[in-house]
Amino acid sequence: MSVERRKTKEITVGSVKIGADNAVSVQSMTNTKTSDFAATLAQVKALAVAGCDIVRIAVPDAECAGIFDYLKTNGVSVPLVADVHFDYKIAVRCAESGADKIRINPGNIGSSDRVKAVADACRARRIPIRVGVNSGSLQKDILEKFGGVTPRALAESAMRNAQELERFDFDDIVIAVKSSNVLAMIEANEIIADACDYPIHLGVTEAGSPSRGVIKSSIGISSLLLRGIGDTVRVSLTADPLKEVEAARAILEYCGRAEKSMIEVVSCPTCGRTSIDLIATVNDFEEKVKGIELKKPIKVAIMGCAVNGPGEAREADVGLAGGDGKALIFKNGEPAFTVSIEKAVDSLIEEIKALS
Ligand code: SF4
Repeated sequence: MSVERRKTKEITVGSVKIGADNAVSVQSMTNTKTSDFAATLAQVKALAVAGCDIVRIAVPDAECAGIFDYLKTNGVSVPLVADVHFDYKIAVRCAESGADKIRINPGNIGSSDRVKAVADACRARRIPIRVGVNSGSLQKDILEKFGGVTPRALAESAMRNAQELERFDFDDIVIAVKSSNVLAMIEANEIIADACDYPIHLGVTEAGSPSRGVIKSSIGISSLLLRGIGDTVRVSLTADPLKEVEAARAILEYCGRAEKSMIEVVSCPTCGRTSIDLIATVNDFEEKVKGIELKKPIKVAIMGCAVNGPGEAREADVGLAGGDGKALIFKNGEPAFTVSIEKAVDSLIEEIKALS
């Protein structure tokens, strides 16, 4: 399936470029107390190792603006975004102290002079601004005009905020229009996509726990990506942010937009023939392959029985099937060798490394 990507400006965030023909980047946000610099450093590093391309950090007060300088002097190279609400002085300070992008909602920053001060500080350092709008941040007159939080209201608010920056000759902008309502998020982004050529940051906000949030995010993000809309993504979960990165990478992979090669796992639903603890085996495998970099994508099957498993997973490059007290390793649907249950996952990983 070939998808024509929406044409956009190209925006530079530290070492990552957003928009145009650049890979769709993955973002997440730290949930440590920003004032705990050491804990935030550890989480930023963990996110980068997990494949997060850009990390956003909430900056609730002026002292926390020092986090960017601290992270960079402690070896962080992943681009960093300052998330600032209400106080333009904090946004300016973040721009001055090493943030690679500033996320504001110009609508809550205050007077035009204040928005201009942020735009000037960012322009001076070639730092882009992400205009982030969500259901809770719509201007009163827009709510009245559209009779509430509608997709058109979200889109109009985002465009107005971008225009507020354009008035000060600032167009180094990424736009985000988020809603916890998946259909509203999709429609609002469709409107934005037609109305401007700024790169779009996609996400379903406050999507919830992983079990529901991943589904909501997958529907919202993938339905736009599959039509060429979207340049950077965040899966927003009530969970460890590492899970956001994992989910975002999987969404990109299944939409054919992954920059890094991944292991695609197929596993059977189990049935009365299942002869190993398949759920534990799959969980163990997924945990152990986190962070393994491949030169090409590899499809791996983990199946419950050796009778039907290899045949059912014939299209997999390599796989494992439960056997009689052992596990069968198979390649391209054909049996290769058997190993003890205890060594099954490690043997499978060795085969994957040999193939890559
Ligand atoms: Fe059942 Fe075997 Fe099919 Fe798994 S692979 S669903 S255990 S028949």
